[in-house]
Amino acid sequence: MKIGFIGLGNMGAPMAANLAKAGHEVVGFDTAEVSVEGVKMAPSAADAARGAEVVITMLPNGEILRRVAEEIIPAMAKGAVFVDCSTVDVDSARAVAEQAERAGILAMDAPVSGGVGGATAGTLTFMAGGPEEAFEKVKPLFDIMGQKAVHCGGSGAGQAAKICNNMILGVTMIATCEAFALADKLGLDRQKMFDVVSTSSGYSWSMNAYCPAPGVGPQSPADNGYKPGFAADLMLKDLRLSQQAAESADADTPMGQRAMELYAQFVEQEGGSGMDFSAMLPRFEKRHRG
Ligand code: NAD
Repeated sequence: MKIGFIGLGNMGAPMAANLAKAGHEVVGFDTAEVSVEGVKMAPSAADAARGAEVVITMLPNGEILRRVAEEIIPAMAKGAVFVDCSTVDVDSARAVAEQAERAGILAMDAPVSGGVGGATAGTLTFMAGGPEEAFEKVKPLFDIMGQKAVHCGGSGAGQAAKICNNMILGVTMIATCEAFALADKLGLDRQKMFDVVSTSSGYSWSMNAYCPAPGVGPQSPADNGYKPGFAADLMLKDLRLSQQAAESADADTPMGQRAMELYAQFVEQEGGSGMDFSAMLPRFEKRHRG
């Protein structure tokens, strides 16, 4: 298959490399100087998109996605599929999909979970929104880049699933960290805290799979000086997207709102930028107020 791939950063580069390795003809474009094994670089986004059966974008945000879409949609062939794998706001995902559909192009939002490790290993989870026909066409590519692809519904449904999942993750990570900090003050041994909670009703992915306390539970960024992993900055981005969506859909998400405020404070005022999102535990131990 001939594939255009736009946005070859931390995630896009290994995803494109895996497609090339599987034998697809991949033409890439990035505004930064990059080279990816097996991928031929084009001089512009439109050039990467021209003649491709599938165009994949992996970009920083919705504003950039809208700009790139303006450029590539007119260059794409009718019947081709435009798959955006970036994490962006639901409104941008839907606006770009409508624009593509008007031009006779099939559009999907398909954000991912699994991080750079999953992108490199080809074990990402894709959450896809858009027409069934587009999903069927792109499914073999999802199977190369990932281990699971869920067709969540119409356009925007993939982004909706992603931000709802990450809102739960942000909230449970904070709850887990504040509970550890409280347990410390109450003189409870951390290993005992883990042994109880991980097998009791307080269990969660944050506690069981990504324990924020060093030396306790499975290996996690806490055991590596809170080097990401999943950076607090990216968690803040996703929580902001969830609150933007809640505002626009008139949904009540007070815990998501509070999690966003705490991560904003952590990243922007308390030196949390560049640290893993589980570094909320040392943050609570210092007992910041607010
Ligand atoms: P990144 O910043 O490493 O990569 C983005 C790339 O887009 C960069 O190489 C940049 O030069 C390029 N770019 C910017 N503007 C462009 C334009 N106009 N045309 C072409 N290329 C352009 O970011 P990343 O970590 O690869 O993340 C990409 C997306 O995936 C984001 O939306 C992020 O939220 C999402 N995501 C990231 C992770 C993660 O762990 N890094 C996990 C899941 C989802």
